Amino acid sequence: MYLCMEEFFARGIETIAASEDNELRDCIICQDPLHMIPSPNSLPDGFATPIRLCHHPVRIKSCGHTHGLECLSAWLKTGYSCPTCNRILFVPEALPGPSEEEINDVFYELKNEYGERPVTIAIINYLNHHDQLENQRRQSIMAAIAVQEQKIQEKERKRVREMEIKWEDNVEEEPDWDTSDNEDAEDAEDADMDGEL
Ligand SMILES: [Zn+2]
Ligand SMILES: [Zn+2]
Repeated sequence: MYLCMEEFFARGIETIAASEDNELRDCIICQDPLHMIPSPNSLPDGFATPIRLCHHPVRIKSCGHTHGLECLSAWLKTGYSCPTCNRILFVPEALPGPSEEEINDVFYELKNEYGERPVTIAIINYLNHHDQLENQRRQSIMAAIAVQEQKIQEKERKRVREMEIKWEDNVEEEPDWDTSDNEDAEDAEDADMDGEL
């Protein structure tokens, strides 16, 4: 999770090397093949330029999903999560409210018809409402992020616990191996002595 989109694109993605494994994979955003295979022989008929030039496939490091870089950039202009798995990738910036110029345009357009005071009140109400919606939006995103972080932590704890159990099992079995090893070693010694005799 990154603090902004710029940081996500700087550190959260990696380019994919051309590979036959990925030849048939499609970009989920535009549905075109990602076509990460370099050979022009593999291009379908009618494509003058290699399709791979249309896409610069990149993998999202946190979830491993691959999309065309251009498609992902366009997608994340209006969103903040992976198009494939909805994982939140960065904290979205607040949507800007109307500019001073826009507010003045509305004010001068409506004040003669409705009067200065009612138009001013309407504009203030609108701005308050926008702020409220924006706060709600950010709160719901932060809640979703918290849930996501909790899931990741739970998964990690489970993984560590599984590792501990495996390790404990191995430790319990270890004495058996030691005895059998010793027995083998003794047998080998006996055999050597037999040979000498
Ligand atoms: Zn695409
Ligand atoms: Zn994903």
